Amino acid sequence: MKVWNAMASRMRCVATMRVLQTYLDGALDEVAAQRVADHLEDCRRCGLEAEVYAEIKTALGEQDRTVDPRAIERLRHFGEQFVRGDSAGS
Ligand SMILES: [Zn+2]
Repeated sequence: MKVWNAMASRMRCVATMRVLQTYLDGALDEVAAQRVADHLEDCRRCGLEAEVYAEIKTALGEQDRTVDPRAIERLRHFGEQFVRGDSAGS
């Protein structure tokens, strides 16, 4: 059942990524938000990703939308790599 567990874990990560921005906007419903919060506690990778998103969000607020688009592109690339599992180094 190890493979299934790994797959289920990956599915949770993908689902978390998908709603992360909505979650940070505070626009997620209570049940879903709690599920995301729980996962961010358990999963260091998603927790880290959430921190980066939150930082960019703060920067966007502070700098009045003058954030370097390359930084966002880099983050998106990182997220895509992560979802595919390319960056799963040891
Ligand atoms: Zn995760």
